[in-house]
Amino acid sequence: MITYWCNARCAFCYVYSAPDRGGAMSAADAVQMWRGLDELAASAGKTMRIHLAGGEPFGDWVQLLSIVRAARDAGLTRLEKVETNAFWATSDGLTRARLEQLNALGIDLLLISADVFHQEFVPMERVVRCVEIARAVLGPSRVRVRWWDFYNQPVDVRKSDDDAKRRAYAVALARHRERLTGRASDRLAEFYERFPAEHFRDANCVREVLHGRHVHIDPYGNVFPGVCSGIIIGNALRTPIPQLWKELAERWREHPIIGRVVSGGSFELYQAAAALGFAPRPEGYSGKCQLCQDVRQFLLEHGGWEQWVGPPDAYANEKDKQEADRWKRRVDLTVEGAPR
Ligand code: SF4
Repeated sequence: MITYWCNARCAFCYVYSAPDRGGAMSAADAVQMWRGLDELAASAGKTMRIHLAGGEPFGDWVQLLSIVRAARDAGLTRLEKVETNAFWATSDGLTRARLEQLNALGIDLLLISADVFHQEFVPMERVVRCVEIARAVLGPSRVRVRWWDFYNQPVDVRKSDDDAKRRAYAVALARHRERLTGRASDRLAEFYERFPAEHFRDANCVREVLHGRHVHIDPYGNVFPGVCSGIIIGNALRTPIPQLWKELAERWREHPIIGRVVSGGSFELYQAAAALGFAPRPEGYSGKCQLCQDVRQFLLEHGGWEQWVGPPDAYANEKDKQEADRWKRRVDLTVEGAPR
């Protein structure tokens, strides 16, 4: 995650990326961490697969280019994938020029977002331009769209009211279930059945946290389990990644978040937070991850947990909270196939 900045503030964002969020990974930092990942993979006889994402990684084109070039010049593992929402694809010439530069530096795959959430913020014609030019420059097999079904039948909700957006969201969520962390935990829970915190008592997170084959590293060097952005395993700018991994393997029980979610899931974390004054949402939670996000938001604001819970870019700020309150008004959704 080379930045938390994004031109959009999608309802399904797994962090809280938005135009008012920041962070910029320097090329030197990226190379240092990329090298550490390569060393860790090599020690297990494997090859690391590196993806650059955000936020929106094309928000600062010079930064993105400098990272890709520096990694190539340092002889690091070839970049597998760059993800983008294509907001920057405002002309054929610009789009082609950027994709040709990336192709020359070496990427395997471009992943372009196309879904009802992004299209509140990104005109569909830019997505179509980016996809078509990418297919010409990289070849069709090196371009993916998430999701092709939306791309082939897009829905324009940019001028829609909240009720119309809700109906479009319900249709999208019936096709593709989303994990409710980050902003998605505020905006999409209502589309799923909800339960009290106790419902998640036996849902531990061994698989996601200790057996995952995927991590996120943010622009400040924070390393997160792949699906748990905002839970800080350690800092890859301060601790070499192979060492950080060794410490996680040997001492995960001592990590006040990881130790709890591995043994008892977000319910155990909730119990610890309840002792500090956390009150669960009366409407309940649609999944263990929404509960986890809510508890961690409380811990971040409570203070004293910054080493393990953060950074603030991965959590709601005042603007996000106001937006979530406004959105909360419930409507009767009767869309066939919606996951209620
Ligand atoms: S409950 Fe928390 S720790 Fe467990 S998988 Fe979800 S986000 Fe990760």
